[in-house]
Amino acid sequence: MKRTRNVKIVATLGPASETYDMIRALHETGADVFRLNMSHGTHEEIAEKHKHIRKVEEDMGSPIAILADLQGPKLRVGVFAQGSEDLVDGAAFRLDLDDTPGDVTRVNLPHPEIFAALEAGATLLVNDGKIRLTVVECGKDFANCTVVTGGTISNRKGVNVPDVELPLAALSEKDKADLEFACNLGVDWIALSFVQRPADVEEARALIMGRAAVLSKIEKPNAVARFADILKVSDGIMVARGDLGVELPVQNVPPIQKRLVRKCRAAAKPVIVATQMLESMIESPMPTRAEVSDVATAIYEGADAVMLSAESAAGDFPLEAVSTMNNVATEVEQDPTYTQIIEASRQAARTTVADGIVAAAREIAETTDIKAICCFTQSGTTALLTARERPRVPILALTPLQTTARQLCLSWGTNCVITARLDRFKMAVVNAATAARAQGYASDNDQVLVTAGVPFNVTGTTNILRVAPCDERLIYATDPE
Ligand code: PGA
Ligand code: MN
Repeated sequence: MKRTRNVKIVATLGPASETYDMIRALHETGADVFRLNMSHGTHEEIAEKHKHIRKVEEDMGSPIAILADLQGPKLRVGVFAQGSEDLVDGAAFRLDLDDTPGDVTRVNLPHPEIFAALEAGATLLVNDGKIRLTVVECGKDFANCTVVTGGTISNRKGVNVPDVELPLAALSEKDKADLEFACNLGVDWIALSFVQRPADVEEARALIMGRAAVLSKIEKPNAVARFADILKVSDGIMVARGDLGVELPVQNVPPIQKRLVRKCRAAAKPVIVATQMLESMIESPMPTRAEVSDVATAIYEGADAVMLSAESAAGDFPLEAVSTMNNVATEVEQDPTYTQIIEASRQAARTTVADGIVAAAREIAETTDIKAICCFTQSGTTALLTARERPRVPILALTPLQTTARQLCLSWGTNCVITARLDRFKMAVVNAATAARAQGYASDNDQVLVTAGVPFNVTGTTNILRVAPCDERLIYATDPE
């Protein structure tokens, strides 16, 4: 699918978006990446969504990234007999280890370790902090609480315990089983929730064994403190503002978001800004002005992707939410102020040949009429470095590896095409020009830039930059083998 915008849209799938038709419509409206939330649904249901996405990908003929988001050591309540209950201020509410479906007086909290660590007076926050409970009395298998701030509580809502240090492993048994299942399905990214230290990421990477890229969700104060080291061992980052804004005071979130987005761009690793971006669109076809501004801010800051959670998974207006993001992105990216901000925040530090080549490509594209930067990439690194430059012309990433093409769908401005394995530079140029024409970026009389590495099909060899005509006859006439 040819897009004219650079920032990517991640849409979480759920009950509101699980059919082939809906997933296809979401993709056509603008979703580039689909997020499967492993906290909800059975493996069968997840496999079903995965199957639909891959069918849409095949039918539309362009790669789509699938991100499987592991629940991680996130505490969640069990289920309710009625699906949900309204808790009123001042009421008593009990959490316990009994897995009988809950009602308005109690619900299961299947975490013995939390009961062991809780104390009277501790605060429990449910559903991104919307509901606040105070512990009155607790034992090894229960906590009797008072509802301080009421609201609707429903199946498997998240629970945060900001006052209590919980000794939890990075990956639960469920996470390990989900990870294996998702890797076998063939997802492109695995997101790790509640990462606290680099070792958490390394532990997951060892289990993933190269089958997917690893994205760390930053949603704990610890992860913010150790961000530089976590970024080093991750392939991508999510600014997970939902839990972050519960674990830390909400006003700390915007400065953290800005800092993380910049650091990710400097490291040439994709960053997603997530949660509550268009929250009111769960129930309304129109966003609030503040939400529109929030999406725009993330884009002005240089995020690679913006994300929809419940808006696309469980809301009444999934398509409207995607199209709102798409419209905001299109508008922001046409604003000269956006170009100014993005270009002023470019980092100059260049240490490799590839850094120099992508910077030169970007500069040539600024000074001449070039229609696209076509980069041949194996691991995706050259495309990531090109994206970091935030060039003014489209990036066409050409790779023989389907996984690379899919993973790159998360990165700013990167359009991916799968090509044959090449062994001659002339054929690389011909393929790049053909892809640029076929994707509608250029026509016969135009020029594109081609970056590649010789020897071919080896990671980390980018060493050629060619300003090439799009007319194949010219390439055959002029280019060396
Ligand atoms: P979640 O992560 O939706 O899985 O909780 C995102 C966030 O916390 O913002
Ligand atoms: Mn979270």
